Amino acid sequence: PRPVVAVVGRPNVGKSTLVNRIIGRRQAVVEDIPGVTRDRVPYDAQWNGREFTVVDTGGWEPDAKDRAAAIAAQAEIAVATADVVIFVVDAMVGSTDVDEAAVKMLRRSNKPVILVANKADNTSIEMEATALWSLGLGEPFPISALHGRGSGDLLDAILAAL
Ligand code: GDP
Ligand code: MG
Repeated sequence: PRPVVAVVGRPNVGKSTLVNRIIGRRQAVVEDIPGVTRDRVPYDAQWNGREFTVVDTGGWEPDAKDRAAAIAAQAEIAVATADVVIFVVDAMVGSTDVDEAAVKMLRRSNKPVILVANKADNTSIEMEATALWSLGLGEPFPISALHGRGSGDLLDAILAAL
């Protein structure tokens, strides 16, 4: 079976934009408003001849109520059923309380996690992204899902983790 890569993180950090970058087409729905992807949406992807499934998820929020709680539950299922997890943080914002809570959930999952610092559109944001080492998930991968910066290195890291 194809290995599964789940993309999780807070609403609006650029998960769906990253999924589109990985699959090489605009299929995952990107929105300026949070919470557009409601559950788990799988897409076929390949890189360097290796095939895998990448799963887009809705924005994960802890202690969320009702609809947001359902979305968070779907993200947790996506993590539980993934071989590798991509945890996306907004490099322009830095890490938040919600990101730290997500890290605890990711630790409990015992899955390999790749930390992505998205929206690193330029070198100065890329430099600031090194502060995300503090999340304790290892080296942050600064990328710009929107412009493609760093996405090749990230895909290499994904394949190495599969
Ligand atoms: P999601 O809610 O995590 O799936 O986030 P989306 O992929 O829907 O993106 C939310 C917003 O962030 C959209 O306006 C995107 O265009 C924007 N965005 C995504 N990636 C980047 C990036 O690398 N740089 C910048 N500047 N904006 C981005
Ligand atoms: Mg989305």
